[in-house]
Amino acid sequence: MTPRIPLSSPDITDAEIDAVTAVLRSQRLSLGPELEAFEQELAACHDLPHAVAVSSGTAGLHLALLTLGIGAGHEVIVPSFAFIAVANAVLQVGATPVFAEIDPVTLNLDPASVESLLSPRTRALLVVHTFGVPAAMDALGRIARRHGLALIEDACEAIGAEFDGQRAGSFGDLAVFGFYPNKQMTTGEGGAVLTRSPQFAARLRSLRNQGRQPSADWLDHAEPGYNYRLSELACALGRAQLARLGPMLGQRQAAAARYDALLDSISGLDRPPLTLPRRSISWFVYVVRLPEGSDRDQVQAVMAQSGIATGRYFAPIHLQPAWRNRTGASTLSLPLTESIARRTLALPFFNQVTIRQQLEVTTALRYALTHAHPSSPRT
Ligand SMILES: *Cc1c(COP(=O)(O)O)cnc(C)c1O
Repeated sequence: MTPRIPLSSPDITDAEIDAVTAVLRSQRLSLGPELEAFEQELAACHDLPHAVAVSSGTAGLHLALLTLGIGAGHEVIVPSFAFIAVANAVLQVGATPVFAEIDPVTLNLDPASVESLLSPRTRALLVVHTFGVPAAMDALGRIARRHGLALIEDACEAIGAEFDGQRAGSFGDLAVFGFYPNKQMTTGEGGAVLTRSPQFAARLRSLRNQGRQPSADWLDHAEPGYNYRLSELACALGRAQLARLGPMLGQRQAAAARYDALLDSISGLDRPPLTLPRRSISWFVYVVRLPEGSDRDQVQAVMAQSGIATGRYFAPIHLQPAWRNRTGASTLSLPLTESIARRTLALPFFNQVTIRQQLEVTTALRYALTHAHPSSPRT
């Protein structure tokens, strides 16, 4: 059953529909002017010279790791409190993800934990800007420089966010964006890798297109590659969305502020900070932490009964069945990640969410907490 109030919802206007329709009428469906323009506009809004559009954020992570030469015998430090693609991409190149602990406020990689996990095999830090909150790029950048490590930003959840006035995605050697329909802006499926380096950009362009060199014939391949191309339709959609990014992020910020006010009266519930020092947040999702001892599954089930979708963002990667039995992962303990992840609940959050819907969500959550938590004293 589709929920009455969804967890996320793309924001598609006539501008997007017209842009995609124009591509269909043009007959040029791949590797055309929309791709070039989308890449230029993405790069420009991050003050970077190069953006390479790809078929998904996960494909972008894969190519970023390959471009840096990361492979078998190498370790990449990643958060466990993250989307599974982060670990899967590291595995895909034959390297080993090493799971670090997070900061309890920003929910991003804790620099001290990162430092404690460095080994002679460490090659890169894969920094995720979780939920659109920028990570501590000063401290993490220093660690990378001091130890000669590559810095990859996973900015899939953070387009438009800033740390010290600088855009997320413009700090690393390479930065990856994702445009799945639940993100702040979408291309249906899609992603991009941004970089300062012309060499990296050329390698990314080659790898996404079967290892072809730009000057070469269609059937000349310099190295093994992939088909990670993004269609003209997707790029046209992305351009229309990117043009509206500022107002869309404004709507999300306003929705977060409304939740903050509405949820204030639920005792024991932790709301995400609306502002954080040195950071400008790009609101991806609205994730609360339920009061200690609440039965989250039951809360979700009760809310689902009233047609309200919620999400468990995130289930720690190192506890996933696919990872639990890998070497080292079974003994791994990340107490902060585990205790935070147990309590998180993502509420319906999208550009067009109305105050009435948010009021309904709040009422349902309050009801669910009382009924999923019968031993708590009534006030
Ligand atoms: C969405 C997301 C991705 C990419 O997802 P795709 O579905 O492959 O586009 C990667 N990392 C994080 C942290 C994400 O949230």
